[in-house]
Amino acid sequence: MRYAFIADIHANLAALTAVLEDIERRGGVSAIWCLGDIVGYGPEPRECLALLRQIAGVCVAGNHDRAAAGVVPIDEFNSDAAAAVHWAAGQLAPDDIDFLCGLPLVIEQGDFTLAHGSPREPIWEYVLSPEIARQNLDHFSTRYCLVGHSHRPAVFSCDGTCSVRHFSPHEPQQLGRSRMMINPGSVGQPRDGDPRAGYAIYDDELELVSLHRVPYDVRTTQRRMQAHGLPMRLLTRLSYGL
Ligand code: ZN
Repeated sequence: MRYAFIADIHANLAALTAVLEDIERRGGVSAIWCLGDIVGYGPEPRECLALLRQIAGVCVAGNHDRAAAGVVPIDEFNSDAAAAVHWAAGQLAPDDIDFLCGLPLVIEQGDFTLAHGSPREPIWEYVLSPEIARQNLDHFSTRYCLVGHSHRPAVFSCDGTCSVRHFSPHEPQQLGRSRMMINPGSVGQPRDGDPRAGYAIYDDELELVSLHRVPYDVRTTQRRMQAHGLPMRLLTRLSYGL
């Protein structure tokens, strides 16, 4: 079966739609796994939640999801993020909040553990280095772990120690026997200098994973953010993927 891994959608409907279209263009998948942060930052929290509830087989909670649902205090965020989470919280219906409150922090699916930040600290930890990946190895028992939160695609391959494994975009790579931590990148607010939406496709029969990037209409999202009075810095960063 083929799976798509998506993370950090951040209420960006144009980006999410572009990713779903790209998945279909590449032959479709049997299930979509979501690594959290459906809402926050972007202009369409309700629309993205509605779409995600239709398409995602499983999903874990991100820090923005927990904050918008009132489970994590908003004052844990920087001022721009806090303003956007506060706005998102005001948009959500009780049903949306129930859904966000019901999302687990960590789940296991076959060979994978899914967590938003890290399996050790699912809400707040960023897995940005081989050393942080190594420290997390004792915190999951499956061979592979999927994380989001950093908004940067990354693959850490671990055999005692961990190292960065380089993936060329769109090129399927064999997963192999090593344990791995994989971040598919961010759908709605990439931060690796590439403004295109990011996600991954996994084929469990061939044991191949590929990281994909998809252009989307950034201006549409920015116009909608402006119309809702969301912080200007959150609009401009989308143009640069930073
Ligand atoms: Zn995020």
